[in-house]
Amino acid sequence: MMAGRGRAGGPPGDLDTAIGAAKLGLVPVRTDAFDLGGLHLTSGAGRRLELFVSIDDFMLGGERYSVPSELVPVQLDVSRTTAKGYALRLRFTAGVSGPCMRCLEEATPAIPVESREVSQPGESDQLRSPYLEGAVLDLHGWARDALALSLPAKLLCQPDCAGLCPVCGANMNTAGSEHGHEPAPDPRWAKLSEIRFE
Ligand SMILES: [Zn+2]
Ligand SMILES: [Zn+2]
Repeated sequence: MMAGRGRAGGPPGDLDTAIGAAKLGLVPVRTDAFDLGGLHLTSGAGRRLELFVSIDDFMLGGERYSVPSELVPVQLDVSRTTAKGYALRLRFTAGVSGPCMRCLEEATPAIPVESREVSQPGESDQLRSPYLEGAVLDLHGWARDALALSLPAKLLCQPDCAGLCPVCGANMNTAGSEHGHEPAPDPRWAKLSEIRFE
């Protein structure tokens, strides 16, 4: 089974075979760097490309998250602005996997990502994309950073995850609505109840 094989694995012969097959549209192959010059676009012309990237694991809040899919399909829109300039748009949806930040169960949210880059060499530094070296696009690095910038503040197993019971740590998503605890006769609470706010 060749499909899903990453660039890192297998002897060179396998890779050549995979690239050859991909040119025939048979097997998806991961793209780390993409040479925009090979598109031979003239000023004002554009192309839409369907490519595949892999995205490295990342740490968030001290926990490890990954994108289990070895080949994430991405859509890359390339527009040639001038003889040396490019306007780029990258879009994809990445399935992320890791612990829910509320209940610690497995969370697998799908994160939609959209990112734009403009590169206009010769203009100010603001119009230089950090992902373009000449005409070679660092698609791997761009996809990773674009995903990082698209992550929600909290990665959850479901949007309304009920989290853990603050008393016993039970998962409130499965504990049932009747889950609760008798108020503990804690002297500190008695003390608090004596406080009156004017
Ligand atoms: Zn949860
Ligand atoms: Zn409880």
